[in-house]
Amino acid sequence: MNKKRLLIPLLCMLAVYTCPSFLFAAEPEFPVRVCVVENADSVKLILKGHYEIYSLHSSEILKQGSYLNSKVSATKGGILVAGGELKTGGITIKTSKDSGIYIDERRFRGFIDIIRTDTSKLIVVNHLDIEKYLYGVLYHEVSHLWPMEALKAQAITARTFAVYQARKNTAQDYDLRRDIYSQVYGGRTSERWATNRAVDLTKGEVLKYRDELFPAYYHATCAGFTEDASNLWGIDIPPLKGGVCLWCGNSPHYRWSCEIPLSRINQKLNAAGYKLDGIISIGALARNKSGRIDKLEVKDSSAVTTIITAKDFRLILDPNVVRSLNFEPAIKGGDLVLKGLGWGHGAGMCQWGAHEMARKGKKTEEILKYYYPGADIAKL
Ligand SMILES: [Zn+2]
Repeated sequence: MNKKRLLIPLLCMLAVYTCPSFLFAAEPEFPVRVCVVENADSVKLILKGHYEIYSLHSSEILKQGSYLNSKVSATKGGILVAGGELKTGGITIKTSKDSGIYIDERRFRGFIDIIRTDTSKLIVVNHLDIEKYLYGVLYHEVSHLWPMEALKAQAITARTFAVYQARKNTAQDYDLRRDIYSQVYGGRTSERWATNRAVDLTKGEVLKYRDELFPAYYHATCAGFTEDASNLWGIDIPPLKGGVCLWCGNSPHYRWSCEIPLSRINQKLNAAGYKLDGIISIGALARNKSGRIDKLEVKDSSAVTTIITAKDFRLILDPNVVRSLNFEPAIKGGDLVLKGLGWGHGAGMCQWGAHEMARKGKKTEEILKYYYPGADIAKL
């Protein structure tokens, strides 16, 4: 055999065994940090491909190998991995294969930190490039079967929202959570061809107003009128002022209703710090221009009246049960009956409206201009 042919595999082997980092994925261009597990007693960790476990924020390698399947938990003085205690407050795990990390059966790209909290719980933070992060977001926010122009609009709004959050949260342990309070993120497990394509086709594109990023909120269905973000979060800029939406009439989430026992509402509100003793009535005190309730008036058996913002009321009860702030409350027996319109906070882009616009042939830019008047698509 020719010497050169022998030398190349030999060099590759040397690279693997003497300097494994050589094979690790390149540093992300625009990194984001997503909290994927919060306050857990333990997580199930599987690593496929060569891996290295470092002490958090250091280059000290605590453990390495080519495959790992282990429960990870916090101990008083460190973190337990594969039955061995690593004396550290946190670990960083990198694998040679992008997406070779599995946490609780979910697969992730990039690398992860597992951090022990003061109360001996675990937080898992996934670090990855924003484009790869968006791959794992879109599937949860819209259907991958939707028209491409709507998927692209979603990719741009989700990217804008994520970058805005990342810049705001630099002092925190992470930029984004993986639940509905940020954007739902499912890692590599949630990727689909069409949604990845929408991310690729809009790579680096964000929305700006007067050259500044803004939180490009979006929601499932506005039911006719989007909300002014200043009513919800005090953000007062033209792209988030709210306005008429003529496109979501066919949304399956246009109307909703629910019945909740008053006793449960009383319990939840008291747990959130209110002092109510047997609720007897709940009424809308004031509504915003969009029709959504601003404040609710709650009366209890001791004739005390409590004012609660509708936004807090929805969050405390369950935003998936009280789907929007646009509802009519009524008491029926021991229950509160709500008949409502739309799904979500109502600010920014109405996703089902965007879907209908795309179905009728509108382009991504037209959709975004419609829902964020005055905003422009710009490069990161
Ligand atoms: Zn709408």
